[in-house]
This record gives sequence, structure tokens and C-alpha cells, in this order.
Amino acid sequence: MGHVKLHIPGPVEVSAKTFAAFCQPMIGHRGQGFKDLCAKMQPQLQTLLATKQLVYLSTSSAWGVMEGSLRNLVAKKVLNCMCGAFSDKWLDVSKRCGKDAEGLQVPWGSPIRAEAIDKKLATGQFDALTLIHNETSTGTMSPLPEIAALKQKYPDVMFIIDAVSSMTATPLAFDALGIDVLLAGTQKAFALPPGLTVFTASPAALAKAATAKDRGYYFDFVEFQKNAQESMTPSTPSISHVYALSSKLDEFFAEGLENRYARHRRTNAMVRNWATGHGFTLFPEPGYESLTLTCVNNGAKPGGRTVDVAKLQKSMKEQGILIDGGYGKIKGTTFRISNMGDETEASMTPVIAALDQALAKL
Ligand SMILES: *Cc1c(COP(=O)(O)O)cnc(C)c1O
Repeated sequence: MGHVKLHIPGPVEVSAKTFAAFCQPMIGHRGQGFKDLCAKMQPQLQTLLATKQLVYLSTSSAWGVMEGSLRNLVAKKVLNCMCGAFSDKWLDVSKRCGKDAEGLQVPWGSPIRAEAIDKKLATGQFDALTLIHNETSTGTMSPLPEIAALKQKYPDVMFIIDAVSSMTATPLAFDALGIDVLLAGTQKAFALPPGLTVFTASPAALAKAATAKDRGYYFDFVEFQKNAQESMTPSTPSISHVYALSSKLDEFFAEGLENRYARHRRTNAMVRNWATGHGFTLFPEPGYESLTLTCVNNGAKPGGRTVDVAKLQKSMKEQGILIDGGYGKIKGTTFRISNMGDETEASMTPVIAALDQALAKL
């Protein structure tokens, strides 16, 4: 069988153009060529995240920086906001790092709400919180602006935000939100190969990191800042990823960020409409659906149609398209289809047609 196109919610399809950029010859990571490349990307990244802070590149998957954020910023106790597989895991990772941690758990498919966080932070026990903007396992987006607004009430609490599957697909204005860390792995909405994470940190986060004794080296925020000031990374980065990111950023700005966001809304609507048009319901609480993937309810919640997900996946794969059969405890009782990255209405049209075909055959 030929190439099976990825419509799982990460990693997603990587374009030939991005691969060509990825495969350029190596250069030294302390040389002027690399510094020039980073210096060229820095303002693009700052525009993307609407920040005056330096944006850092970490050669790691997202979890590296997710764990690093805990090591740099949690001195007292961290509140891990949990609404799905990735956000639930963050509590486990906090404990594995030896941090005092507490979960704020809501049912999968529900968003995290500002009022619930407010209640927890009012206890005065916490100096950090973790939140996943777009919980990829459930296709649910939490209302980040409302949550970030709490920072004004709790200025000493570090707001650590994972935007792994939303960054570049929807506006994230770091400085205006007033949050402390914003991070994303690049194999999701950036449509790069896995292995790089983009992140930024507030002045308050950098000041706090400087006081953290056991923050380690590889994910030391102070090192990232010091090196970024010289247009470098602390250790040898995946230079191939840096080339690919540079190419991708040029694409983002050629398209225009607003156009990119609108494109994601349109391609997402295509999948949602397909699902609801065929009698399915969506897994997330209405009003909190992700814009980068669709998590279709297939019996996980009452209501709506159900199908044999394994058969649906198999039929899709035979048509050259890989979709996801549900993650963790909602495997089989949901399924997920990604519209992240480079997908357009034109590239999604055959996906919808293939879904129709697959459904007709079940
Ligand atoms: C994929 C994903 C992660 C984990 O990323 P890795 O690249 O596996 O480290 C974390 N958070 C969210 C929201 C994700 O979608």
C-alpha cells in the first residue's frame, strides 16, 4: 500500500515542501548561519504568539517542556487542571518530579472553567497551575481568556499553558493573556515532524526559575533565555527542525495568520457537519469543541449514532487515510479526525468523501 495520509490528531501530515526544508545540509549551531536563521525566525515567532518575550526552541517533544515547566516553576504546590488524557497525565508527571500536586478533575469532554480554578487558588496553597488549552484526547477547548484573567487576582501563581494542538490554528496572544508559559510541540498544528517544541516564558517565570534549585540543565529556562538572547539554543538542537520551522513560518505569514485561523474554522466545520449530518453527536460539551480536530461521540455519552470504529478505521485506511479510534479510556467509544496543519477545504473534501464511502459500507 502507498502512503497513508495522517488525519490522526498528531503527528499530522508533513508537506513535501517542509520535508525539503528539513533535509538541508547541516550547519554548526554556534556559527553565524544558525544565529542568522534563529534571528530571522524570532520576530515571526513573537508575532505568532503576540509577545515581546523571546520565543525558545527545545529539541524535545512537548512533554520535555511540560515537565521542565514544573521543575522551573513549582516551589510550593501545583494545581493540575484535568479534563482528558494529556491533562490528567500532567498530575502524574508532577508527582514523578517530586512536586506537591493536586488535580482539579472534571469529566472528560467538559472544559476547565475559571470559577473552579478560582475556588482552588483561593485556598492560597498553590504557586502554579497547569492547563491544556485544547485537550486533544477529547477534542475539547477550555476558555483560556477567562482562565488567564484570574492571573490578575493571583499574580504569584505561575500559569503554565499547553497549546500543543491549538498554537497556529487559533489566536494565542501571550502578553495580553498575561500567562507565564505557553508551549507547543510542532507535530500537531505546526505540521512539522515530531521532535521540536516552541515555547515562551514571562519575565515573572524567568525570575522564579532563577531561584529554583533543582531545575536541571536540559530544560533550564534561564539557559534558554540566555541562549536565545544570542540567537542560539542551550544544547545542540535538531537543526533540521529549525530549517523546517523557518520554512513553515514563512508559509504562515504568506497566508496571513487571520486567514490561517479562518481556514482551520472552515475545515473543522466540514468534519463537524459531516458527523452531525450523519446522526452522530460530538463528544465535547457543546460550545467547547476544538477547532483543530473533531472528537465524535460513539457511545461514550448517551445519544447519537454508533458504528464499529475498527471497521471505520480499516475502511478509511484502505482509502489511504488514517483516522484515530479514540484515546485512552474513550478508545472505541469515540473517534477523532484532525484538520490541523496544512489542510484546506480542497484537501478535506476527499476525506469527507472517504468517510461517506466508509460509512455506507459499514
Ligand atoms: C500530543 C500532546 C501532548 C504530548 O506531546 P508529545 O509530543 O507526545 O510530548 C501534550 N499535550 C497535548 C495537548 C497534546 O495534544
